[in-house]
Amino acid sequence: MSEQLKIHFLGTGSMVPDEKRNHPAFLLVYKAENILVDCGEGTQIQFRKAHLNPCKITKILLTHWHGDHTFGLPGLLRTLSTSGYKKKLEIYGPRGIRKHLDEMFAAFGTIQEFEIQIKEVSGKFFENSDFYLEAEKMIHVQPCNAYSFVEKGKTRIDKTKLKKFKLGHGPHLKNLKDGKDITHEGKKYKAKDLVFEEKGKKVSFVLDTVFNDKIVPFVKNSDALVMESTFDSSLNELAKNYMHLTAEQAARVAKSAKVGKLYLVHLSERYDKNRDVVLKDAKKVFKDVSVPKDLDCVEV
Ligand SMILES: [Zn+2]
Ligand SMILES: [Zn+2]
Repeated sequence: MSEQLKIHFLGTGSMVPDEKRNHPAFLLVYKAENILVDCGEGTQIQFRKAHLNPCKITKILLTHWHGDHTFGLPGLLRTLSTSGYKKKLEIYGPRGIRKHLDEMFAAFGTIQEFEIQIKEVSGKFFENSDFYLEAEKMIHVQPCNAYSFVEKGKTRIDKTKLKKFKLGHGPHLKNLKDGKDITHEGKKYKAKDLVFEEKGKKVSFVLDTVFNDKIVPFVKNSDALVMESTFDSSLNELAKNYMHLTAEQAARVAKSAKVGKLYLVHLSERYDKNRDVVLKDAKKVFKDVSVPKDLDCVEV
């Protein structure tokens, strides 16, 4: 069992919002980490509607500098300032993001009352004892990153075996966890017989991009994959021209990458009344797929 890991779908629409779908924004919550992926216009209102506190945000990962993914930033940052946000806010994005952010700060003339650290990233760019974050370059009209959150595996002690061998609490448990064989009350026990490796969870976000070879290896074995599917496969050419994905392509990625669950987002407004078109298109290829609504929350 993993530590609690949740994805809040704050905005599942794309360029043009409608009454049900706001612009892209996703919040990954893991322990004290609140990682916001993209910040479309009105994202701070979506926080309120979802009864989430934006002051808990620790990191913002921007996929790219298109308005549907970033227009919510000035308002959100202003709210954090006036709400007494005291943490250092880390903002990560692809090449060019620093210049865009500096221009945005200049245009709005806002003075942040908290520290902001901006980093243009690719590859592994953050790591602590629990998880790491990775970015991979996608192919879109603008420099664009896909992101993965990867929880680190943990060594667990098999409690049933402990009971069986009457190995109660004590310093020997730490030795076992460190992979060391132990002697307890004159008897020898091998660590490998008493401990097992528990795999950590992986969540990936692939937003605006044309289909490309880097996606599958990057999202490999994700437990959850949040992926754009602006079009369905009948509009394949349009998807290619606008540098976006179809639902069928997203499903093919999920299948090849052995993903646990696929969530389709960034749907074109043409599917306002009929998102089943997108869902069916993906289901032909990959069964474990859904089209979340705004404010949905899933546990990974
Ligand atoms: Zn977009
Ligand atoms: Zn875009």
